[in-house]
Amino acid sequence: MKIARFDDDRLGLVVGDEIAEVTSVLEKLPAVHWPVPRGDLLIRHLAELAPAMRDAAGEGQRLKIGDVHLHSPVANPGKIIAAPVNYLKHQAEARADTEINYGSDVKTIDHYGLFIKASSALAGPGDGVVAWLNDRRIDHEVELCVVIGEGGRNISRDDALAHVAGYTIGLDMSIRGTEDRSYRKSFDTFAVVGPWLVTADEFGDPSEVDFELRVNGEVRQKANTRDLIFDIPKLIVRASNAFTLDPGDIIMTGTPEGVGPVKPGDVMDCEIDGIGAMQVQVRGA
Ligand code: MN
Repeated sequence: MKIARFDDDRLGLVVGDEIAEVTSVLEKLPAVHWPVPRGDLLIRHLAELAPAMRDAAGEGQRLKIGDVHLHSPVANPGKIIAAPVNYLKHQAEARADTEINYGSDVKTIDHYGLFIKASSALAGPGDGVVAWLNDRRIDHEVELCVVIGEGGRNISRDDALAHVAGYTIGLDMSIRGTEDRSYRKSFDTFAVVGPWLVTADEFGDPSEVDFELRVNGEVRQKANTRDLIFDIPKLIVRASNAFTLDPGDIIMTGTPEGVGPVKPGDVMDCEIDGIGAMQVQVRGA
């Protein structure tokens, strides 16, 4: 299934170039009381709701994808975990560009571990990205995103992919500079997630997936997940050794070479095989 959240928190399944509305299924979610369980309520109950979603899609209203405002398919990720320097060619470009490295010796994920982006940075493709701080370089980083389904701690490599609810496209927007990653990469709208969630059963093997990003039609990033330094199972192992993973947690798996600046008015087109495409506008602050 391809699950989209759109307009006024409506839910749908993507069928071709249309969305079949399944919002009525949300009434089956349990009522929650304070303190609410961590993570995303829909993702927590996705496996139980899937049959009802398929049924509802057969009867639901159809809308053209181009006519709706797409939000992040995960509404309430407890945390957004991200992978610093997880492609060697991105390390090489970061080492070569003083506007990226700011005088530091750029190492890889093995050295840095993981970092966290604020969940308030979450945006959908329809929201666009705000270019805060007009005197600073703001880069696009397109990344395959993993959405955790069943949570857990100390997840083994063999079990790792069984904890994935699905996959989506992410933009880890980044202000370049000397500040900590969690600051530079957590401004509002700097975690774009979309255009929809492709469930793991439909997506299949994430280890060899082509993806690309274009800015105003020009290809800037074009890569394949086979070149990840830490592959997806290893990212899940490392993350769960540190953090209890909850349903709806997002792991941004790292960006390949080709990062570069964007400015207000630019249009980013991101595409990942097996997911689809999302278009994201850059707006002024
Ligand atoms: Mn990144």
